[in-house]
Amino acid sequence: MSQGEALPPLARGGHTLHCTRCVAGLPSSQTEIDSSRLALAFYCLGSLDLLDTLNAKISDADRESWKEWIWEQQAHGKYGTGFKPSSYMTPEDASVNDEYSENDTPHLIMTYTGMLSLAILRDNFDKLDRPGIIKFLRSCQRSDGSFSSIPDSTESDLRLVYCAFAISTFLDDWSGVDIAKSVTFIKRCRTYEGGYGQEPCAEAQGRDCHLFVFLHEMLTVLGGTTYCALAALHLAPSLPNDPLPLTPRERHQTVRWLIQNQDDSGGFRGRTGKDADACYCFWCGASLQILGVPDVLDPIALAAFLARCQFKYGGIAKAPGEHPGQDFVDTSLEPSADPFSPDPYHTYLSLAALSIHPPHTSDTTWKLDALDPLLNARSATAAWAREKIPAQ
Ligand SMILES: [Zn+2]
Repeated sequence: MSQGEALPPLARGGHTLHCTRCVAGLPSSQTEIDSSRLALAFYCLGSLDLLDTLNAKISDADRESWKEWIWEQQAHGKYGTGFKPSSYMTPEDASVNDEYSENDTPHLIMTYTGMLSLAILRDNFDKLDRPGIIKFLRSCQRSDGSFSSIPDSTESDLRLVYCAFAISTFLDDWSGVDIAKSVTFIKRCRTYEGGYGQEPCAEAQGRDCHLFVFLHEMLTVLGGTTYCALAALHLAPSLPNDPLPLTPRERHQTVRWLIQNQDDSGGFRGRTGKDADACYCFWCGASLQILGVPDVLDPIALAAFLARCQFKYGGIAKAPGEHPGQDFVDTSLEPSADPFSPDPYHTYLSLAALSIHPPHTSDTTWKLDALDPLLNARSATAAWAREKIPAQ
């Protein structure tokens, strides 16, 4: 028996159940401030998309109501147009005020996840304010080429550059971005090891400038800064004076750094000395795919690690193990501090990693549709976004 035949099944039914339960409450729940609600919707819908259960398990009416809810998050104002995190953030007088208030400001990450979620739901994007989104991108770009999450915010890092580049790719219009400045910023974030920090080390005084710093808290749910850097560099139209995203030497160094993050458990860790975490199986695995060396990792060991992260009632947790005495179904939406609790974020990224690096096995539960590693979406969804979002 080959190693692949020893894998337990991928619990597709359980993972579908976990994500349908988590997403069900999203449109109606306005009882708490949830600054990452739209991103969570993306992880739930993206999981169902990869499992190919969105249409089979979710009614047409529910899919329509999700579209409506996501469009309700599109906010217009003096800085342009984008998507905000949740309905709760809308002040009651928003309908009579065409300049969004501070609480109603669109957010760059939510704009990326909102557009991608609508593509998963096969929306036709006739409500999209394209010129407004380009204006919003311009409002968010800073003088050093980085982007802030909202105009004039001090929060800026590589995740936001990636989101701006993905949105420009969707629109097939890069007029909202000074590409050369952003590429310079990305290159300044590169470290001597071959990975990328959140921001240039020289300016990150007192901050941990190690790689893949990932905080399980709101608005950091995209994580994986090396992935964000590599994907952004490969999405960008090539520049006349800088035609290659990476030099051959840089590419070799980054590949070497990524490979050594797969540890004995089969999973990937975010940095040296940390335990493997399911989400880094995507951030590192997709990075290797982007660099054109998908075969350098061990897909059976990767799948075996993620199989152990599966929760017995559905969903995938960041680390293997059962919570002692846990015998209930946890439908909490946020990535949990408990490494053994499943959440939509780790469920989606685990499935995405398996889609890129499927194990060699005759067990068909492990077969997932192909993923577009640059846009972080099922290939058919990424193709829909590229076709429907640009102005006709
Ligand atoms: Zn994680």
